[in-house]
Amino acid sequence: MLTDYHVHLRPDDEDTPPSRYFTRGNAERYREAAEERGIAELGVAEHIHRFTQALEVWQHPWWRRWARDDVDAYCAFVREETDLRLGIEADFVAGAEDRIASFLDAREWDFVVGSVHFLRDEAVDMEDWSVWGRGEPAEKIWRRYFETVGEAARTGMYDIIAHPDLVKVWGRDAPQPEGDLRRYYEPAIEGCLEGGVAVEVSTAGLRKPVGEIYPSRRFLEVVVDAGLPVALSSDAHVPDQLGHRYEDALALLEQVGIGELCVFERRERRLEPIG
Ligand SMILES: [Zn+2]
Ligand SMILES: [Zn+2]
Repeated sequence: MLTDYHVHLRPDDEDTPPSRYFTRGNAERYREAAEERGIAELGVAEHIHRFTQALEVWQHPWWRRWARDDVDAYCAFVREETDLRLGIEADFVAGAEDRIASFLDAREWDFVVGSVHFLRDEAVDMEDWSVWGRGEPAEKIWRRYFETVGEAARTGMYDIIAHPDLVKVWGRDAPQPEGDLRRYYEPAIEGCLEGGVAVEVSTAGLRKPVGEIYPSRRFLEVVVDAGLPVALSSDAHVPDQLGHRYEDALALLEQVGIGELCVFERRERRLEPIG
């Protein structure tokens, strides 16, 4: 059984209103692309920052710029007009744990994807508000990033931790630490164990400057040693990106000895064999 849960129904662009993308026709295009690629379990996880209710969680100017849509209308659309699993990609915002929990607990998700895009007010993966380029050493940014992933996982608010080594997104276009990167991973893995959360394997990194699956093979080996479950996704933003380069992901999973994937329904998790 193949899955794709971390899926967006629209690109991260201006002028992508729900009236055009949260439609039965668009959901069907995603379902058809999934079927072609043998993906039976399909869910959607829109970005929390696209919803006005997210401003009750965080008032970052970048969120204020994007928060336009109604989250309950999104939930109703997915439940009533599609056969997709209902999820959300909810950033972890340190210090806003109670407000994130209230936002999440007020709705009936199938799964909640937790992401670390921001370290305090600065973004790891965007040119706006970037954490890079102020001269802070890569060592320090990487350490903070994986500690924050651990903190996010430990809250227990999430079912899946997304793109767990996103900090590498820019590849050689950003400062990178030297040597064996395993020294960074431990706080993230410990947080996942404490929070009982699954680790995402995402092919999105293959579309980014780094050109690698999230997480690295080394990270995944630690995941296997820790006995953590894995969820497979593409982070598609258009139907054609569904299951993007899953053959590479499946080869990696096989190499590290992962034969089962997480399946979610109403926030209950079970494992299904891949093939
Ligand atoms: Zn993300
Ligand atoms: Zn995403």
